[in-house]
This record gives sequence, structure tokens and C-alpha cells, in this order.
Amino acid sequence: MALNLDTRQRGMLAEMQVRVWSPLSAPEQAPMPPVADAAVPVPPMAQRPDGLDPMDWATLHSTVSSCQACSLCSTRHHTVFGAGAPAAVGQVPQVDWLIVGEAPGENEDLQGQPFVGQAGQLLDNMLHACGLSRTAQAGPEGGGIYITNVLKCRPPGNRNPKPEEVAQCEPYLQRQVALLKPKIIVAMGRFAVQSLLQHSVPGVDNTPLGKLRGQVHSYQGVPVVVTYHPAYLLRNLPEKAKVWADLCLAMAQLRGRA
Ligand code: URA
Repeated sequence: MALNLDTRQRGMLAEMQVRVWSPLSAPEQAPMPPVADAAVPVPPMAQRPDGLDPMDWATLHSTVSSCQACSLCSTRHHTVFGAGAPAAVGQVPQVDWLIVGEAPGENEDLQGQPFVGQAGQLLDNMLHACGLSRTAQAGPEGGGIYITNVLKCRPPGNRNPKPEEVAQCEPYLQRQVALLKPKIIVAMGRFAVQSLLQHSVPGVDNTPLGKLRGQVHSYQGVPVVVTYHPAYLLRNLPEKAKVWADLCLAMAQLRGRA
């Protein structure tokens, strides 16, 4: 029996990640009429490859670019893999620092680069205050930075990431960390913190971020410092001093003094 679903119903099912399939008989397998409502997301069909472990940087990058593992692929303009210290094409950037945010916003989605909006300007200013810049090469004194997010695609309307989106995207971040081998990770905001500390901090989902600050945590053997997200700081400027303290903790950890 054919399913008589209109495009809106199909879109809602796609949002709920329900794939519609029906064993149509031959005459019923005629092509679907063209979709009239362009706003209805196309259900993603492809899966993220299971084994990211052997992937090199270039392959990981292109896998992310074509990812259709969740419905965000149907609304994104660009994936946002990350950016930082310059590296030869396909080579892993040499960095000491990895900054992890939440997800691309509107500007990031349009440009394919992380933290390019107002929150990004604030992040750049904070990094400069630490003597760091997102485009500097790592020198003998260290200093190279890479900036990425938990999600590589923009959630529409900048809504919060959904757990199933985080679950699909997290393996990319895991592989990025394994390849970058940073000496310190700065987790900015609730979603980065929950994602990075879920296996090492019991109850992290229900722990206020403020309670996780001031200690050095660990992710894949890399020290992690927790701080507020720059977008939160834009709304709560007095909290800047706390972020400065967190960045000082990260610098001290790097110098072996934390
Ligand atoms: N907020 C984030 O968490 N990441 C970005 O790239 C931009 C804004």
C-alpha cells in the first residue's frame, strides 16, 4: 500500500529522523512529483563512515564536507571543519592549543569558517591578550592554535544542538584531536564541555559550567580547561574576568605550572 504523505509530513518525519520506506509495486514506483515546498528539508540518506580512525587530515576534511549523517546537512550552506595555524595542503596544522566551541552560526555557515561573527571577534581579542593569534605558526615558544566546534554544521536559527546531532558529529572532533595532538584544549560553553567531558566527569550534563572551571580535566589524554562561551560573554561582560582567569590556567598548564 502506498503512503500518502505530503511534503510537509515527509519533512516532519525527516526532522524526527524517521525514514519513510514502502514496498511499492511497480506501477506505484513512478517518480515522485517535484517538491513544491523548498523549505522542507531533504531527508538525509547517507551515513557517516564508521571507521574514522585511519583517516588522515585531508580525508577527514573531505568526509566532513560531504557528511549527511544528520538533517543539518539539508539546511547548511557550508560545513565548518575548523581553522587555525597555516599548514601545507592536507597536512595537520602544528598547534599547541585547540579551542572548541559549540556550532557554526549564521556568518560561519555562510563563510565556512569558525568564529567569524561578533563572538569570534571577542575570541580573537581574548587570544591576543594571551599573545596568541589564530593564524600564527607554532614557534619554538609554542602558540599555534586550531579552532573548531562540536557540530560542523549550523543548527537552523542558531538553536541548541540536539543530542543526536552531537552524537553523529562527535567522532569528527575525536579524530581531529587525535590528529592535531594539541597540548591544551579550551572547551568554550556548555555543549563543548559536555561533549568533551562526558566520559570523564560523572553527571557533567547536570553540572553548572561554573563548577567545572578552575580545574584541569582530560580528554583523550589532553588537558582540558573549561570556560564560558564568547557569545555568553557578549551578554554578560562582567564574566570576562573569569574567562581571563581560565585562559591563564590554560597557559600555566602549558608551561607546566598548573
Ligand atoms: N559560536 C560557536 O560556538 N562557534 C562558532 O564557530 C561561532 C559561534
